Amino acid sequence: MAETFDLAIVGAGVIGLAHALAAARSGRRVVVIERDVRANGASVRMSGLVTVAGHAAGQMQRRATRSREIWADVCAQAGVRIEHEGLAIVARRPEAATALAAFAATEAGAGSSFYLPDDAHALFPQFKGDVAGVFWSPDEIRVEARSAMPKIAAWLEDAHDVAFRWETVATGVGEGEVFTSRGRIAAEAVVVCAGDDFRTLFAERLSGAGLTRVKSQMLRVRLDDGYELPGAVASDLAILRLPGFEALDGVAALHARLEQEQPDYLAHGVMLLVSQSADGSLVVSGSRQTDATPDPFQSQAVDELILGEFEAVLGKRPKQIISRWIGTYAVSGERPVFVDAPSERVRVVVAANAAGASSAFSVAEETIASLYPKS
Ligand SMILES: Cc1cc2nc3c(=O)[nH]c(=O)nc-3n(C[C@H](O)[C@H](O)[C@H](O)COP(=O)(O)OP(=O)(O)OC[C@H]3O[C@@H](n4cnc5c(N)ncnc54)[C@H](O)[C@@H]3O)c2cc1C
Repeated sequence: MAETFDLAIVGAGVIGLAHALAAARSGRRVVVIERDVRANGASVRMSGLVTVAGHAAGQMQRRATRSREIWADVCAQAGVRIEHEGLAIVARRPEAATALAAFAATEAGAGSSFYLPDDAHALFPQFKGDVAGVFWSPDEIRVEARSAMPKIAAWLEDAHDVAFRWETVATGVGEGEVFTSRGRIAAEAVVVCAGDDFRTLFAERLSGAGLTRVKSQMLRVRLDDGYELPGAVASDLAILRLPGFEALDGVAALHARLEQEQPDYLAHGVMLLVSQSADGSLVVSGSRQTDATPDPFQSQAVDELILGEFEAVLGKRPKQIISRWIGTYAVSGERPVFVDAPSERVRVVVAANAAGASSAFSVAEETIASLYPKS
């Protein structure tokens, strides 16, 4: 007789794995259904930065803080290396410095610091060119996404008895069951964590959810031997992407100035985020182009923009480009996390806006609490 699970999860990306952990920790027998041989979506293509600073105040801020806590625990237990901690945002313009200083002074910025140019140069000799100040948040952690996901899946299987059904496409969800390319799987409850696939399961509901997709270009590069970043590094362009900064002094002026000075960067959604891996290589992000079906083509012109900002901040061009890749992810102008309940025992969870890894574990706790309320 086929095994029956308490909970079936569709998708072995970070959102699916986070739900598997939360459910297993609450004593549920869990199965994860994944169409690929291993996770191959946004969760292995991302920068892998678990951010705490810059989320919208309130719920998202709390989610990020809680998720970061769980990430630290998961990394320790699953053998995932924390590549580095902290995030520096380099202000190249006075308007950016104004915004960063304002954020550091808010409640959400507690624990972060803003350094004026003299201190910034002394503390962060890596940053070259015009530096109007540096914002430093010590809380961010970075994982190597491509190796972290398989390690977390293996740990869930070994330590939490989570079952995985790889190379299995979920084609439909019913009450107490998931229909798959390999037959029916019985489960009392189901959580769909299918990333930016809005068309296979619950397509009608997702089509009205204000979600679309973006394509992002990424590079892995090498600078000099022994080169070391202080943590993850971003610049002015990133400030426009951080919801927690939106209303701050300086941001509107920064936007206007970037429209004058870097219009092609804004047109391609280019921002700089550099992080470092154990072998010293640097992962450089990225661009953002919205399209319901993102094309698969890497544009050299867009890579040049990304590398232009890299050089402006770090003062040099990479010696070597090791690899280039494209990732796609869900975006929403309405909400950073879409959670739907098509029926009492089914949930659909979509993390949008390039922050899925940063909120995954706390969002999962919320979903599992809603499926299994404590009496
Ligand atoms: C280039 C890039 C950089 C990013 N950087 C960061 C960052 O630094 N920090 C951060 O927090 N976020 C970042 N993000 C966003 C983050 O990667 C995503 O929010 C997150 O990975 C989404 O996780 P997910 O599990 O929902 O989706 P995915 O990782 O895409 O996983 C969904 C899984 O579901 C499977 N699936 C879908 N449909 C089915 C089906 N019908 N049957 C079976 N399996 C199915 C897919 O095969 C896939 O493995 C970045 C994203 C990209 C692309």
